[in-house]
This record gives sequence, structure tokens and C-alpha cells, in this order.
Amino acid sequence: MKKMLKLALATLVALSMAAPAMAKTTFVTIGTGGVTGVYYPTGGAISKIVNKKRKVYGIRATVESTGGSVFNVNAIMNGDLEFGIVQSDRQFQALKGLGEWEGKPQDKLRAVFAIHPETVTLIAATDKNIKTPADLKGMTVNIGAPGTGQRGNAIDLFEAVGLKLEDMNIEGTKPSEAASLLQDGRIDAFFYTVGHPNGSIKEAVAGARKVSFVPVDAATTAKLIAKSPYYGASKIEIKSYPGITNTQDVPGFGVKATLCTSTEVSDDIVYAITKEVFENFEDFKKLHPAYSVLTKQSMLEGLSAPIHPGAMKYYKEAGLM
Ligand code: GLU
Repeated sequence: MKKMLKLALATLVALSMAAPAMAKTTFVTIGTGGVTGVYYPTGGAISKIVNKKRKVYGIRATVESTGGSVFNVNAIMNGDLEFGIVQSDRQFQALKGLGEWEGKPQDKLRAVFAIHPETVTLIAATDKNIKTPADLKGMTVNIGAPGTGQRGNAIDLFEAVGLKLEDMNIEGTKPSEAASLLQDGRIDAFFYTVGHPNGSIKEAVAGARKVSFVPVDAATTAKLIAKSPYYGASKIEIKSYPGITNTQDVPGFGVKATLCTSTEVSDDIVYAITKEVFENFEDFKKLHPAYSVLTKQSMLEGLSAPIHPGAMKYYKEAGLM
């Protein structure tokens, strides 16, 4: 009898010791964008940092290539994604029920942190002589599929310079295809709201057809900012793109990439992701050249949705808020 009790006790002890190793893994998916943009490697950078601590948190993050910001907001809201990278302007509109979400505020959307700046980039075939956005009249222009963030930015710019959609042949294909369409002569220009440098623009510049960035002048940018507070002045540095026709850095306007989630995602998961990115900030910054301008403080700016309580817990602990 004593022997049996001992055995039972030993089994119990062994079981309880094995328990942490058996703790279940929580899988979380981060929605990004096209594979040649910056969102996709950004999802990879966040996952890499978090997955290193899989034993501590039991979290396994994976990355999904998606249509972009608008798709990501909707997928977070319907529970298909736990996280997504979202343009700051889309975050603002979704929360307030504007733009694509007219009259349908997405109350459960939460901000985690901001990441790199994104410029509303308009790149055109040099042979088409497009010097200003207004010169797009009569041209074939890819403004992106409906799930992308840039589509709305292109439309805002058209309005600011007095262009109507009917003035152009509008294409709506995904950003990863735009560079080859431009090279093949099937489009004259495309829009991409994106961090620099990135693979898509490098691909567009590397072909035989010469391409140039189309600048947005200061007056137009001022007009856009006056109407929509989430826009800011921005600049593309041409040194990132040898072969581009421009001879000077290109002025324009832009937004910020942000990491979003929903109230449905647990505080523990959001805390872990926030903490690991911030505590490994210098390593994170090295993962993409578009992060060169990041500071911990800049990662807390440009958020319009309430900060998720899991992220807030870390910011308070770290004295960042
Ligand atoms: N800003 C783009 C979008 O929201 C994606 C840019 C990227 O993938 O880097 O659709």
C-alpha cells in the first residue's frame, strides 16, 4: 500500500514538472501586405523577435501576405487575424467610421505601436513626361486593389489637384505586380504608399524602361494636411534607388505604418509582443533600412485608436507613458 502511494506521488510530481513544457502554444498571425513591400518584412521582423522567446511566452507568431491596410483592418475585426499592419490614416478612419468604413466605426480596433514612415509614392514611366500629379490626365494608372492602403491616398491626391477618376484609365492590381506592369508598358504610373527603400520600387527602377518619382508640391501637401490631419510632409531619398531619373530628393506627403490588433486579443499576448520589440529595439531597427529613423518615442506617435491595455502595461512599466 505504502509503495503504491509512493508511486502515485512520484507520478504526480513528474507530471507537474512536465506541465510547463506541455503548456500549449498560442498561434498568432500578423497580416502584412505584398511581398515586395515593407509590411511583409516588418511582420517577419516582429515575429522573429517574439518567436525567440517562444519558451517564455508560448507564443508562435506567423506572417501572412495580404492585400494591405484595408484588408488587415477588416480581417482583425472579423477575427481572421490577431494583428495587422495598418496605415495610420486607415487606423483613424476605421476607428471613426470614415472612408471605407463610412458610418461603421470599428470600436474594437486597438493600436499597439507605430513603425516606419510611409510616403504616398507616385512612380511613372519617364517617357510619359508626367511632371506633376495633374499630368496623369489620360494616363493608365494603377492605384491599387480595394484592400490596399494607397487606393484612398491616390484618390485624395486626385481631388487635391482637380483630377476625376474618369480622367484616367484606373487599374486596381496588387502592388507586387505593379512594377512589372510598368516595365511591360501596360501602365504608365502606379501609386504605392510605402516605406523606403523597398523591393517593389527597386524592381520598377531596375528595368529597361526609365522611371521617375512624381513630386507633390508643398502647396498641394499643405492642402491635403489641412483637410486630413493624419497626413504629413514627407520626402523620398533618391540615393536608395540608383537608376531613377530624378536628380533630387522628391517631396510629397505620407502617413505611418502602425501595428493594430483588437480588444479580443489577450493582454498577455499584446504585452509580450510589445515588450519584446521595445526591449530588443536596437536589434529590431537593424532588420530593415526603412526603420533607420525610428526612436522608441516615434513608435508611440501617430496612433489614433486607443492603445491596447497589454501594450499600455508595458509602456507604463518602461516609463514610456
Ligand atoms: N501601405 C500599403 C498598404 O497599406 C502597404 C505597404 C507595404 O506593404 O509596405 O496597403
